Amino acid sequence: MLNIPYGRHDITDEDILAVNEVLKSDYLTQGPCVPKFEVSVAEYSNVKNAVAVNSATSALHIACLALGVGKGDIVWTSPITFVASANCAIYCGAEVDFVDINPHTYNMCPNKLQIKLNEAKKIGRLPKVIIPVHMTGQSCDMEKIFALSKIYGFRIIEDASHAIGGRYKDSVIGSCIYSDITVFSFHPVKIITTGEGGMATTQDCNLAQKMRMLRSHGITNLKSEMFERPTSEIWNYQQLELGFNYRMTDIQAALGLSQLKRIDELVVIRNQLRERYDLLLGHLPVKVPLQDSMAYSSCHLYVVRVASDIRQKLYDSFYASGIKVNLHYIPVYRQPYYEKLGFVKGYCPEAEAYFSEAISIPLYPRMTEYQQDRIVKVLADSIKL
Ligand SMILES: *Cc1c(COP(=O)(O)O)cnc(C)c1O
Repeated sequence: MLNIPYGRHDITDEDILAVNEVLKSDYLTQGPCVPKFEVSVAEYSNVKNAVAVNSATSALHIACLALGVGKGDIVWTSPITFVASANCAIYCGAEVDFVDINPHTYNMCPNKLQIKLNEAKKIGRLPKVIIPVHMTGQSCDMEKIFALSKIYGFRIIEDASHAIGGRYKDSVIGSCIYSDITVFSFHPVKIITTGEGGMATTQDCNLAQKMRMLRSHGITNLKSEMFERPTSEIWNYQQLELGFNYRMTDIQAALGLSQLKRIDELVVIRNQLRERYDLLLGHLPVKVPLQDSMAYSSCHLYVVRVASDIRQKLYDSFYASGIKVNLHYIPVYRQPYYEKLGFVKGYCPEAEAYFSEAISIPLYPRMTEYQQDRIVKVLADSIKL
């Protein structure tokens, strides 16, 4: 039987050597590799600052805090995302709301966003921060969302957990031309990995400094000019805010640095596999992912939409064949936790229609054409049944 996961990391001998070097060195955490990895990601993303943390979830949390999200504030995101894009606001004591998706890109719809902003303005409940999610690695329409932020006065965090290596118009994802902060994930199924890990990029040095402090207990010991109490002792350190231990280790950063060298190659392979799927699935009654002409997708996921009444059968056939398909995502507000906060079924109709039809079929760089052909055959056969 086959055993094909929906996503899988790509680790080379060079990656293993890089990690081994750290294990033999003086620093296992916060040594020389973390700042090196930060500089490399910042250079790659064409952005001034990059702050490494232990997950994208942590990056989203400290990004919200750095932008001042707190009690009484509202944060809006997409319902079609991983729960972390919404949870980060709740960690800060804020409320969350959801803007329905575009039925073709599965990203937050800028037109629906505008209508919702207009309504929110009338009742004085405008969001403080909006978190657009680049679903499957394809950028949201950031120019439009950015233009709305100027009219309605909200800040923007791009959840680019899927999207490192992607582009939007003339910009690299992570360059923050249309946002305050961008967040990447280095979980093993994502484009490049550090085991667990995340990064926040920003052009704003103050935001970067705040996030650096928050990832390490809110303590500063590097820059005495930041001290609130004057001191002359060189060993002094001061906690200025309530922070966390969200640090990335040097072991993780070494893996990340080594992986980053291959990122463009990995994204090209993902796009080739995506194109091959498009071709092979073209004659079947499934909706393949739209490629937006404004964006170059990193192709984190390959989501097909099928008639909702046959989806369960397809899942069963895939699993019976050893093909571990997945669902990205159940609308966040349909989770029991969010329903307890008052959200109800039917709140975002496009997200729910998508959710009832979506299947993520396997896509990862080491996938072979044979495996891809098998996946397509299982899909074709069970549609015919
Ligand atoms: C994976 C993911 C996250 C969380 O990433 P971690 O690094 O696992 O914390 C957040 N948002 C989206 C859209 C994701 O896919």
